[in-house]
Amino acid sequence: MRLSKRAMSLQPSATLAIAAKAKKLRAEGVDVIDFGVGEPDFATPPHIVEAAVKALSGGDTHYTPVGGSPAMKKAIIAYMKREYGLDYSAAEVFASCGAKHTLYNIFMSIVDPGDEVIIPAPFWVSYPEQVALAEGVPVIAPSTAAEDFLMSAASLEKAITPRTKALILNSPSNPTGGMYDKKRLGELAEVIGGKNIIIVCDDIYHKLVYDGRECPSILNVAPALRDRAVVVNGVSKSYAMTGWRIGFAAGPAELIGALDKMQGQATSNPTSFAQAGAIEALSGDQKCIEEMRAIFDRRRRLIVAGLNAIPKVSCALPPGAFYAFPTVSGYFGAKTASGAVIKDSMDLASFLLEEAKIAVVPGEPFGAPENIRLSYATSEESIAEGVKRMAASLAALSR
Ligand code: PMP
Ligand code: GLU
Repeated sequence: MRLSKRAMSLQPSATLAIAAKAKKLRAEGVDVIDFGVGEPDFATPPHIVEAAVKALSGGDTHYTPVGGSPAMKKAIIAYMKREYGLDYSAAEVFASCGAKHTLYNIFMSIVDPGDEVIIPAPFWVSYPEQVALAEGVPVIAPSTAAEDFLMSAASLEKAITPRTKALILNSPSNPTGGMYDKKRLGELAEVIGGKNIIIVCDDIYHKLVYDGRECPSILNVAPALRDRAVVVNGVSKSYAMTGWRIGFAAGPAELIGALDKMQGQATSNPTSFAQAGAIEALSGDQKCIEEMRAIFDRRRRLIVAGLNAIPKVSCALPPGAFYAFPTVSGYFGAKTASGAVIKDSMDLASFLLEEAKIAVVPGEPFGAPENIRLSYATSEESIAEGVKRMAASLAALSR
């Protein structure tokens, strides 16, 4: 069969690939500790499940409007007001089958062949691939560990060309957990201010921030950018609802209309009764977020302390999300007991899976080859045991 060039050049999702590998090993009886996939390990809170069950048994099993039921849109509007202090109308909000799908709809709706989309590195693995699927050109704006892996105004300025169509801002970030504060957002807004560039804010982790912080939006710092910015969010991470597949967007009506057309020819509406669950998540008791966040916070401290206690590994305490992103390049060039050389983070991740039986994601597909990503959305016991295994297997490497 001759597949399309598009299908053949597309890279599989590295995060999902690691998750699948860890699952397979587990099914084979191998005791793998999974720091791979970024997915809360909690069950969806019962009040949310009940709302969906009630919708399902009440006959909510039909098509809804493509971008979500009127109640779904109302819940998104109320959420945007409560969490961001921003006003949107029904024509300016939109629900899809997960934030990943929302982002896909956005790139398909704004990118023409050759248009450039600036992606600050390190980045979530799906951004460059989605931009490429839309025949756009991903332009990577680098940052360093010393800059907390946050894009500077200078790095943004350097990445802008006459072909720049959009900028992706992901705060808190996957894979680093880093967050842009108001000062940095102000500096970025100043660079982008007079330019005709769309800002895609991926805020999927915006409720997962620690130490009493709040995650600011560039729209709170520079409200004038509202006609050129689209906020993407969803219920997967904050409410432990990854399998439900509900994400959403808030932005200018013209863009939302394009998403509607795009989705109307692809999937139609997101699942009707999953919308009912998402409405309850966004509008119901928010205590569940606090509870999950407190647990994530303990795990965050535990994993970062454990990683920093390993020689030649350094890891900043991330302010948000549920990822630790240590620098591990001190082990590049080291040899395993069988004489194989660990050349890069891909080799190191394979070594850790085979030797220590821990699944981590190498930094390469995130555009940060000196690092690895560990998701700490797993129990404290697993974190303690996983870090112990990692330390022991790295200590056995030789020069
Ligand atoms: N954006 C980022 C940065 C993510 O890490 C994820 C992870 N799944 C998504 C978007 C998509 O989330 P979902 O499709 O589950 O809503
Ligand atoms: N976003 C999560 C991760 O980075 C889930 C997997 C995915 O959708 O990429 O692990």
